[in-house]
Amino acid sequence: MRNLFLEWVHTRMSFNKSRAFLVAMLLWVGAFSQPMADQIQVVAITQDFASIAQEIGGDLVEVQPLIKGSRNLHHVTPRPSMVMKVKRADLLIRLGMGQDSWIDGLIQVARNARVFPGEHGYLDASVPIRKLEIPDHDLDGSMGDVHQHGNPHYWLDPYNGVLIAAQIRDHLSQLSPENRSEFEANYQRFSTELERKAKVWNDQLLAVKSQIFITYHKVWSYFFEAFNLTSIGELEPLPGIAPSIRHLSALKEQVSELQGPFVVLMADYYPAPAGRGFAKQIDARFVSAAPHVGEGDIDHYFDLFDTLVQAVLK
Ligand SMILES: [Zn+2]
Repeated sequence: MRNLFLEWVHTRMSFNKSRAFLVAMLLWVGAFSQPMADQIQVVAITQDFASIAQEIGGDLVEVQPLIKGSRNLHHVTPRPSMVMKVKRADLLIRLGMGQDSWIDGLIQVARNARVFPGEHGYLDASVPIRKLEIPDHDLDGSMGDVHQHGNPHYWLDPYNGVLIAAQIRDHLSQLSPENRSEFEANYQRFSTELERKAKVWNDQLLAVKSQIFITYHKVWSYFFEAFNLTSIGELEPLPGIAPSIRHLSALKEQVSELQGPFVVLMADYYPAPAGRGFAKQIDARFVSAAPHVGEGDIDHYFDLFDTLVQAVLK
């Protein structure tokens, strides 16, 4: 009896060992034949959208931005490396509002049918956004045509971040229905935290609600709207048109009729001396800030507002 038992134990161990070896082999072969095959490849126009996509997709996605850090989105030159990213993408997230027509070119060159307009892999995140500053007349180049379909800097309202996240959740769920509940849970966690933080940012910004903001370009309109801040004008006479002496004089005249304090808030990719010089002339505080994830210590969509709020409060 005893010998038979030992023999049985021995057989079981051998069997388990060989089975373990077989499983290890299959995993090893699988790892090499299909590298990261299970991860949904997401490509997003900027790191703002990439950060939100990473939150919603978690380990199930690999996310790459087309543009890194703080850049003027009105002047982007597409590069061959961007074509390669779009070629591999399962989901492409764009800004929309006529601001990234170069992405149409990338889609054409990459010939990746998964991200053609109308497919689950194509997401124009601007669609459900309530757009600000839609012109009531047709614009031509001389009139500053960079905001021809309204203000496209909509990711700078954290509540729009929730709308962006919801769309990413829906598209990922269509691409990978078996993981729908995970995307939903990630969305719930992200949106709850973002809304909680937005209330904190709002409370912090109470300290500057009586101050009057002036900007270089209409980058911050959604931020001002989200937190009920007052902005009276821009150094640019029209979006995309450089400041003129005549326009700056008119702006100064406007300022002289108001009671400050004033703040000149400027995106960090515009020429700081122009903003600083104007701030000095009107005795305003000058603040330069990055409107994008990926710049300096801004690693996450939450950091973007944390950093921005602190910069505005300084
Ligand atoms: Zn703009």
